[in-house]
Amino acid sequence: MSNCARGDMSGGPHIALFPNAGMGNRMPYLRLATILLGRRCRITLITPRPTITTAEAAAISSFLSTYPEVNQLELHLLPDNNGPDPAITDPHFFQFARISRSTHLIRPMLSSASPPLSAVISDLFAASQIAPILTDLHLPLYILFTTSVKFLPLIALLPKLLSDPSRLNPSSSDVNFPCLPPLPVQSIPPPLFNPGHVFTQMLATAFPAFQRAKAILMNTFEEFEKSTLTALNHDRIIEDLPPLLPIGPLRPYHKSRELTPKGDYKTWLESQPVDSVVYVCFGSKAPIGVAQIQELGKGLVGSGFRFLWALKTKISLDDEYNDKDQETKSEDVRELLGDSVWHENGRRGMVMSSWVDQDEVLANSSIGGFVSHCGWNSVTEAMWAGVPVLAWPHNGDQRVNAQVVEESGLGVWVKEWGMGSGNGLVNGEEIGEKIGEFMRDENLRERARKIGEEARKAVDAGGSSHETITKVLKSL
Ligand code: UDP
Ligand code: UDP
Repeated sequence: MSNCARGDMSGGPHIALFPNAGMGNRMPYLRLATILLGRRCRITLITPRPTITTAEAAAISSFLSTYPEVNQLELHLLPDNNGPDPAITDPHFFQFARISRSTHLIRPMLSSASPPLSAVISDLFAASQIAPILTDLHLPLYILFTTSVKFLPLIALLPKLLSDPSRLNPSSSDVNFPCLPPLPVQSIPPPLFNPGHVFTQMLATAFPAFQRAKAILMNTFEEFEKSTLTALNHDRIIEDLPPLLPIGPLRPYHKSRELTPKGDYKTWLESQPVDSVVYVCFGSKAPIGVAQIQELGKGLVGSGFRFLWALKTKISLDDEYNDKDQETKSEDVRELLGDSVWHENGRRGMVMSSWVDQDEVLANSSIGGFVSHCGWNSVTEAMWAGVPVLAWPHNGDQRVNAQVVEESGLGVWVKEWGMGSGNGLVNGEEIGEKIGEFMRDENLRERARKIGEEARKAVDAGGSSHETITKVLKSL
């Protein structure tokens, strides 16, 4: 364990941030860290070792070298003597479980922090483990929740739903919640219908963690999810739920140039006309099958619009950091997409099989629309950039988030489009038509632009999210 205090001693509260595995989870914590640094806080970042992808390790080291005033606490995870649980196929879940089992090691690190800590902001999964330690140390616990407010009742009420199988039934049309609109059953992540699934079991521990937190910080702003926030905060429809505090959208932080991924897409993007390019990215993983990738390629070409496509063909990001792999990968991608799509590469479109800097892409004035799987980071980045979303959710919380996108006016959602390969193939012609319609919708673009303005107002001095952070900091 290393506990190396560095840099400026700002005199504000000292806050430890404890994100979980995977950078999709970590990114909001890094963003919050930079916001709190700007509010004169001292920040300690707890980083579990080893990480599961080299991309995650690279992103952490890039962050720490850009913000050397952040103190790092390394939590060396206990070895797993039994080896990985064969029931766990996603490495992220394996890591969540390993972090949970190792959390007690944090206690001496937290109690000896210098200067003493004022609070810990933790991920939901780690929170149930860390809560008793914080009670002993008289430290307040906050949870930073990394998805939509609309998804939260499903987690908070999960133990109740699981105790009555008729309420969580895959053959019913909706799942009902007291005093909230029902969720269509297709929007429920399928593992939740299996009480024995490791994901379900982990989520079921979340409610006790919520109850022990002083507040749950939400990466959204008041106006964006107003009705659900009102139901949960003012109408108190879920008993014992601490206040939900919208403090977002957590804005992208400055990345040091030499550490951001390189790519010729940047030059290409710079030279495209305003609002002319549709950006396509389904997050950091590979949620769609080969046949759907091929249809999407046809659709992009058929839409008649310019496109930038961040194409992920594998779950691990490791190789994507490796420049020497580029050549082989280009060939693989060319073969996968076929010549009609490949022919456009560098002309009317760009297909990137390596990592793109999505914050930067969305900030570019040439981007006129974003075809997204609606991972919550992507949604908050679209709202921050004021770019309209064509929602194409696949799994997890994404369909619930897509509903939020639609209800807020940030985007549109073709509900019939399936959750990937198992659920029917959406053909290229249909995709092309929909993308064309989406890109021509100036009213939608205007609404998204207004949401971008509201998002910025919320986080600027005097805005609702800014003031909420001020109140939290004053209470510490
Ligand atoms: N990331 C990054 N630079 C990279 C690779 C990844 O900043 O070169 C970050 C990125 O911003 C995103 C995250 O990594 O938030 C996604 O990675 P990962 O698949 O590890 O996380 P997951 O979404 O699966 O939890
Ligand atoms: N991202 C990126 N470049 C890529 C793919 C993803 O910067 O090529 C970032 C994106 O900006 C977002 C994160 O990775 O911050 C993905 O998180 P999200 O919650 O949207 O989806 P997940 O990957 O967790 O499914």
